[in-house]
Amino acid sequence: MPFGRPGGQMYGPHAHCVRCPPGGRNVPFGRPGGHVINLLGLDAAGLAALFANLGEKPFRGKQVSHWVHQRLVGDVEAMTDLSRALRAKLAAVAAVRGPVVVSDTTAADGTRKWLLDVGAGNAVEMVYIPEDDRGTLCISSQAGCALDCAFCSTGKQGFSRNLTTAEIVGQLWHANRALLADGISAPWVDQGRAPITNVVLMGMGEPLANYDSVVSALGTFLDDNAYGLSRRRVTLSTSGLVPAIDRLREACPVALAISLHAGNDPLRDRLVPINRKYPLAQLLAACLRYLDRAPRDFVTFEYVMLDGVNDTTDHAHELAALVRDIPCKFNLIPWNPFPGAAFRTSPRARILAFQKVLMDRGFVTTVRKTRGDDIDAACGQLAGRVQDRTKRHIRMRVAAAATTAH
Ligand code: SAH
Ligand code: SF4
Repeated sequence: MPFGRPGGQMYGPHAHCVRCPPGGRNVPFGRPGGHVINLLGLDAAGLAALFANLGEKPFRGKQVSHWVHQRLVGDVEAMTDLSRALRAKLAAVAAVRGPVVVSDTTAADGTRKWLLDVGAGNAVEMVYIPEDDRGTLCISSQAGCALDCAFCSTGKQGFSRNLTTAEIVGQLWHANRALLADGISAPWVDQGRAPITNVVLMGMGEPLANYDSVVSALGTFLDDNAYGLSRRRVTLSTSGLVPAIDRLREACPVALAISLHAGNDPLRDRLVPINRKYPLAQLLAACLRYLDRAPRDFVTFEYVMLDGVNDTTDHAHELAALVRDIPCKFNLIPWNPFPGAAFRTSPRARILAFQKVLMDRGFVTTVRKTRGDDIDAACGQLAGRVQDRTKRHIRMRVAAAATTAH
């Protein structure tokens, strides 16, 4: 049980601790010289428990949540409607620690990418995609990924570790702060809303393989005392961890995107190995169950277009037949190449023919837009050890997010 949960104890892995190494450590909370809690990692229940443990009223949790997530302060001292004594008490056990930024690059079209150091030579990325009516942030949930999809460079890197709740929430916190600090101009910001209006979990990692931290972070994204995003403005993309889809449906049903990529099991087994454990019939049944509680009345199917592998009109017909009973939309993603991969990107004409079959069968089908292309060049300037973890990943993430986050 994470620290600070109701019924939890004061001793536990400090997943949110700003001083503990990744993975946490068992150190008594608040002991002199002990460890400090990162406030970014505490959801509403966690903050309430923190203040209960400090012998303070629960509303202090909401007050601090406003400071951290709405006023975006990075220092307990700045929380000026807390008494000096309470600030001192809080600062003795907790702090706000945002991500360590390795690089921050803006493309000609306004797409902005941050590379974040998460320790031990690992880095993850997040991407801001500005549009006329919204600002979308694409965030990461893991350093690397264990699921090893055949066409994915993150999968090829292997798994390093789960991000903590603080590291996931810290991405949204930092993006909002940085955009405001740089004087972002957007109509909703002029009306007093935060720069980021939509979040997509489509960066590095499989969010449902880091379930607890992701769901806790989602809680903070949706909490009216924190970011107050509506569930339809938060999209989680998964390769298809069926039991976790069912858990998410009960715990926090945000908008769902499924990385489908194939219309039959043998092909999907090859492309998305988790399909061997949760084959298409199970996955699609989970989608239908999810739709009972989903904030939108459709799921988005992502489909990466691989030349000669899954991109013929026969494949499109097969796919349409497979999902005929599922309220859904398709997002076709031209595959983004990386060295050593045994795939090619489908020619444009084939992607459009594939799209036409799906459209003719009544499915809304978008082809990803390319955003922020020119910052890929800047990625080439990054330090080698982080370059491979990020460079190739960026184009498709930006593209997928741009077409999914409505
Ligand atoms: N792990 C989750 C979310 C991150 S991946 C998932 O798989 O859904 C986000 C999207 O990018 C997924 O649809 C994934 O299949 C796709 N993707 C991965 N590698 C890609 C590549 N090289 N080119 C295009 N899309 C890719
Ligand atoms: Fe992991 Fe998603 Fe890449 Fe598959 S596509 S390896 S699940 S990040």
